[in-house]
Amino acid sequence: MGGFPIEVATRIKTLPPYLFAAIDKMKQEAIARGVDIINLGIGDPDLPTPIPIIESLANAAKDPKHHQYPSYEGMLSFRKAVAAWYKRRFNVTLEPANEVLTLIGSKEGIGHIHLAFVDPGDVVLVPSPGYPVYPVGTSFAGGASHIMPLTKANGFLPDLGSIPKELAKKAKLMWLNSPNNPTSVIMTKEYFKRVVEFAQENHVIVCHDAAYSEVYYDGRRPASFMEVEGAKDVGVEFHSLSKTYNMTGWRIGFAVGNKEVLAGLGKVKSNLDSGCFEAVQEAGITALSLDDSMTDGLRKTYQDRRDTLIPGLKNLGLAVDPPPAAFYVWVTVPKGYTSTSFTAHLLEKAGIVTTPGNGFGAPGEGYIRMTLCTSKERLAEAVERIKKAGL
Ligand SMILES: *Cc1c(COP(=O)(O)O)cnc(C)c1O
Repeated sequence: MGGFPIEVATRIKTLPPYLFAAIDKMKQEAIARGVDIINLGIGDPDLPTPIPIIESLANAAKDPKHHQYPSYEGMLSFRKAVAAWYKRRFNVTLEPANEVLTLIGSKEGIGHIHLAFVDPGDVVLVPSPGYPVYPVGTSFAGGASHIMPLTKANGFLPDLGSIPKELAKKAKLMWLNSPNNPTSVIMTKEYFKRVVEFAQENHVIVCHDAAYSEVYYDGRRPASFMEVEGAKDVGVEFHSLSKTYNMTGWRIGFAVGNKEVLAGLGKVKSNLDSGCFEAVQEAGITALSLDDSMTDGLRKTYQDRRDTLIPGLKNLGLAVDPPPAAFYVWVTVPKGYTSTSFTAHLLEKAGIVTTPGNGFGAPGEGYIRMTLCTSKERLAEAVERIKKAGL
């Protein structure tokens, strides 16, 4: 018996082309040739989850009361730990019962929120280059992304004034991400104040992705959107334990802020997923209650790596600024290259994997992204290899 043509839905057919396919192929070929690859392409912490968090999971996993379906909105004890952490870290007061929602990793909530608020044809304001989940989540809900380009000229911050008035009025939702992936740029409280005004004026729901709020350097702590007056009236903030505590594999995050927006997201979730494993939430409580020495150590490690890589790249004549936060380095490609051709050059001639900037959206053309999720020694070696390969 023959089959029949399996046809995917339009939402899958219209996904943007996978720009990393050519690079992936080159990488596989290099590995097959036995090249010792230095991977500066991955945004995934290379260090292990701290021991107290692992022990907490192990203990909680042994307790049968955690083996059943968790509550949709998350354990109240976890949401209380989130509220306590927000108070301690940002001096922001949150009501654990309805201003905090547990997520199965922040990506889950970032993707799903569109289903709660975006109808077919609705406009979503999306920064580009940026995290691909914002435009893809928009398109899965039938919405249309309006790109807010992040360029050197605008300091890699969305230029709110340049959004056409009619579009701003039509927009349902706006994505922001500080500290930013891939540019590492931080938004100030002054900028957030302008965002609140923009949102009030145009009735746009603000969704701020703060996954990297705890990965910062030189002691300069990024602000939370929730610190600004009126933020809770207009939006929500997404957080993750992934980057702060080396827990990318554990799948736990949370959203805080406007309770109506969170209720909308919660409605979607209660119909699509069944919550986050309680033992993981117990481990999350332990993580959020750790004192700052753990995260201080992590920041120091990334900062040391940054301070190895950046001067090395500058010595080679590359145009790059030291990131103030996050573990990304946004490098301007040298004359004569595009994002893709420079990525290919580094891979072919130096065995270094990086990510072409245009993979994060067209305005990322002319840049590549390197990550700091590799040891200082390997980063120093990467610089040596680029020197040998030439630009
Ligand atoms: C890593 C990352 C996240 C967090 O993902 P989780 O699903 O919480 O692991 C969210 N936003 C951005 C921009 C990221 O880079």
